[in-house]
Amino acid sequence: MYELIIIGAGPAGLTAGIYAGRYRLNTLILEKMTPGGQIMLSSRIENYPGFPGGIATQELIDRFKKQVDDLGVNFADEEVQTISASVQLKRPLYHIQGRDKNYETQSVIIATGAAAKRLGVAGEERLTGRGVSYCATCDAPLYRDKEVLVIGGGDRALEEVIFLSSYAAKVTLVHRRNQLRASKILEERARANPKINFILDSVIAEIIGKDRVEAVSIKNVLTAQAVNLSCQGVFIFVGIQPHTDFLKKLLQLDEAGFIITDENLATSQEGIFACGDCRKKNLYQVINACAEGAVAAYSAHKYILNQ
Ligand code: NAP
Repeated sequence: MYELIIIGAGPAGLTAGIYAGRYRLNTLILEKMTPGGQIMLSSRIENYPGFPGGIATQELIDRFKKQVDDLGVNFADEEVQTISASVQLKRPLYHIQGRDKNYETQSVIIATGAAAKRLGVAGEERLTGRGVSYCATCDAPLYRDKEVLVIGGGDRALEEVIFLSSYAAKVTLVHRRNQLRASKILEERARANPKINFILDSVIAEIIGKDRVEAVSIKNVLTAQAVNLSCQGVFIFVGIQPHTDFLKKLLQLDEAGFIITDENLATSQEGIFACGDCRKKNLYQVINACAEGAVAAYSAHKYILNQ
């Protein structure tokens, strides 16, 4: 039986692992993929303090992981299916069911992160992997000297539009309003790039193509006029969806599925804490995911000490 199980090994889960390791809690980190989480879809991170000029995401994650390993905290390759609770000495004991193994723990930190949201338009699902992508880092080299569209107006869309411009001949950003949501520094960089065009106040009506993306039908939301724009790739960055489906019956979530926590990162269930992009908050950044990992581990440690 563990004192703490951390689910997820992105920046939040890994930082929780560092703190739990230093508290000498008997800890296990469960991760269904390689460590890093959603941030691995970006090639570089430029706003993490201490690295002027930025740092390659892989290098940053490798450093986090080494810090956890050096403390002797163990990892298991596992995809959690359910968490259930029984009572032991008047406190909950959590049973975590994996693919074919079960784990028992006195406390849990959920750090499962989030994934890219789908747009939900005609052609999107059918052409995913055939011109429709949610990862510029993975797919940008396939679009060398081609024309691509990027959908969304947030930090992610702007970062990726800039990244794609070093491969594609032309990149067009389509955003549903006339103001971008992204940080000004990213917008300034994109606007100064001659390869990047903007189509504002517009949404995607359909992604068109027989076997691969050939064009996109774009509708202006002010005039309701639609035009077809030919392109070979469509990159969609319209926000994130938390990995919390398996928690629906156990924890209080908001309407979009993000976990509700208090300032100590305690969830609605005693002994379960949450940190990073899976929780409801205002700012989704690596820096506060890490800070929340530290707070969640602090709270879990306090909870274990008070038994
Ligand atoms: P986001 O900030 O939520 O932005 C989503 C964008 O997609 C918004 O511009 C939104 O439009 C648009 N959108 C949403 N639903 C849409 C729909 N159905 N059709 C058309 N457009 C739609 O999401 P994100 O850019 O993926 O970033 C997620 C979080 O990670 C954010 O908190 C972001 O700040 C953070 N992040 C930070 C960095 C960084 O600092 N380096 C990098 C990447 C991500 P509206 O603006 O009209 O709502």
